[in-house]
Amino acid sequence: MFNKPSRFVDRVFIHCSASDHANHDNVATMRRWHLERGWRDVGYHLFIRKSGMLEDGRSLEETPAAQAGNNMGTIAICLHGLKEDKFTEAQFDRLRQLCLEINNAYGGALTFHGHREVAAKACPVFDYKSVLKLDRFGRLSLNGADLQDLAEDAGDDPETLPVLRRGDRGPAVARMQKLLVVKDDGIFGPRTDAAVRDFQSSKGLTRDGVVGPITWAALLANDRIEHDGS
Ligand SMILES: [Zn+2]
Repeated sequence: MFNKPSRFVDRVFIHCSASDHANHDNVATMRRWHLERGWRDVGYHLFIRKSGMLEDGRSLEETPAAQAGNNMGTIAICLHGLKEDKFTEAQFDRLRQLCLEINNAYGGALTFHGHREVAAKACPVFDYKSVLKLDRFGRLSLNGADLQDLAEDAGDDPETLPVLRRGDRGPAVARMQKLLVVKDDGIFGPRTDAAVRDFQSSKGLTRDGVVGPITWAALLANDRIEHDGS
């Protein structure tokens, strides 16, 4: 859940980490790199791993160190990755969800940009304008319904669907909730957790409340059976 900082913010900048190494796929590595440069903390506020997991970096209450000359009044988000085709849909989904939350928190009174708009750098390397459906001013035209559609288009490969557990949020959670036939609000709370555990028990799976490849496969198979039978 995004909480608005008390400092003034009117722009969000998107970055990429310029690495595809799995060992660098965490905010701790970014922090180490930035401390080695003599900074007092990691430059970014938020970091999105290839799995779609969101990590907190610098406190949102502090100005980032991410876009030289354009740090005041901004939030800096970094996605792990170097090559355009190595970013994952899970990352883009998380980015969409996060930017939608930020946009809602500000009532739409802020704009979204790539680092490359203010620097002679290819950062980020992916087409963030289409990922976020930005208009020419950088306003987000993505809405909740788009997220729902995106989740449904995400594909059916249990190995590539994100591992979900209590506390997670977003379109993948909403999709899983739909398969479970519980309220699809995209929030993995106690009721969803109980429904997942009951489903796992009913299928003879480990009742751990974690939706990994095996539980996803069972949910998708269950859905197919029900649809085919009707
Ligand atoms: Zn950047």
